[in-house]
Amino acid sequence: MTGKKQWIKPTIVPLRSGLLNKFGSQEAPWIDAIDEVPIPQLLEQYGSPLFVVSERRLRRNIQRLKRAFSARYPSVIFGWSYKTNYLGAVCNTFHQEGSWAEVVSEFEYQKARSLGVPGHNILFNGPFKRPGILRLAVSEGAHIHVDHLDELYELEQIAQQLKTPIEVTLRLNFDTGYTETWSRFGFNVESGQALDAAWRIASSEHLNLTGLHSHIGTFVLEPRAYANQVRTMCEFMHEVESLTNCHITYLDIGGGFASMNSLQGIYLPAEQMVPSEEQYAEAVCDVLLELTHDRETRGFKRPTLILETGRALVDDAEHLISTVVANKRLPDGRRAVVVDAGVNILFTAFWYNHKVMPTRILPGKPEDTTIYGPLCMNIDVVRNSVMLPPLSIGDNLVYSPVGAYNHTQWMQFIEYRPNVVMIDENRNVSVIREAENLEVVTAQERLPAHLSAAYPQGAPEDILSERSSDSNN
Ligand SMILES: *Cc1c(COP(=O)(O)O)cnc(C)c1O
Repeated sequence: MTGKKQWIKPTIVPLRSGLLNKFGSQEAPWIDAIDEVPIPQLLEQYGSPLFVVSERRLRRNIQRLKRAFSARYPSVIFGWSYKTNYLGAVCNTFHQEGSWAEVVSEFEYQKARSLGVPGHNILFNGPFKRPGILRLAVSEGAHIHVDHLDELYELEQIAQQLKTPIEVTLRLNFDTGYTETWSRFGFNVESGQALDAAWRIASSEHLNLTGLHSHIGTFVLEPRAYANQVRTMCEFMHEVESLTNCHITYLDIGGGFASMNSLQGIYLPAEQMVPSEEQYAEAVCDVLLELTHDRETRGFKRPTLILETGRALVDDAEHLISTVVANKRLPDGRRAVVVDAGVNILFTAFWYNHKVMPTRILPGKPEDTTIYGPLCMNIDVVRNSVMLPPLSIGDNLVYSPVGAYNHTQWMQFIEYRPNVVMIDENRNVSVIREAENLEVVTAQERLPAHLSAAYPQGAPEDILSERSSDSNN
């Protein structure tokens, strides 16, 4: 932005022809607008760094995923996973597209209710549901996904107190053959623990088992994992229905579909690694149709399929724009830049290699570059190694996809968190989360009376300036 050119220490770099890798030569990509809104305009109005959400992309993503599943199975419901991105504007975009809310804590339950989601459209997961909120959720008709026996006992007591039977869903864990078994959540199928829990529910006059849930992992790149998941859940459903006279009305297969992002350590581009929504839908629905087709002859309806897809719906709907604030040369000769957005706001930099793009065609040869954030912390590395042409102070770098898990796991650490804006389908831009300031960050702090001032007796003498004025004498 400044007219003055930056001096960069000269170095010797081996010459390579073009930008060749094993997939051939690549155009150095750049991006100057998001949903047709020019990036300079966004930065001028909302500052840097800046998160930019595309409402159009959010809606398109949920509509496409919905179509993929609804075309293959008669009854499908989506529950938006709040912990993936619980900015109100994002949640409400999904709710307007028909999604329920999937929550895992008191805070998330209250947030969903405050956005206007009725209890009966809330799926309540998680290993710890505070007693007060569990009772409220039950009384508001939320779907309780039970994680452990102690929760079952608690629900039994709540049912007694409310004098009404409660419909419960069991969270299951089991080996899919492709994913690590998250055995810490829910009841294990292979060991018989899950069946014991179903018996336990069957023997209670207060509880009815009506749903089964499992969430097999996250960023699951193998659609067959879901085919096996559905098979195990259907077999378990048939077993508990024949043994205990319960009637399962829904199977919830959780989330975990991969987004168009590149996990560190995987060197193929996301486009070649990540299955399409059609592939996931086919894997799930083929098995589900096959294993539920005789239910109607037995007088049962096919269970409703519930999905709690998180990252695959939101990740590519968001960009982060940052600004280069310094250039450096590391002792080993590598180039580094410091930018104004660090791992404090881009938490997923710890496991993804995001796409990094300048906002204009940059002259000069691309070079291996490390991108550091602004924090005075050694871990603040936004990107260890990426080929970029020389950058000047004031140049912008845009990261994507960044829509999943950053706004829920980011932290106020050293820096204020910046503005988040959303571009709507008419290209209007709105702030959906305002940048923090001193007042916001310190709002919850309280100073005990005796600590209310840094220097109650007045500021100490300025030793340094006195010494310098002494030497001036
Ligand atoms: C986190 C979570 C999800 C969403 O997972 P993604 O990998 O983001 O799709 C869904 N269900 C449960 C129970 C979760 O904990």
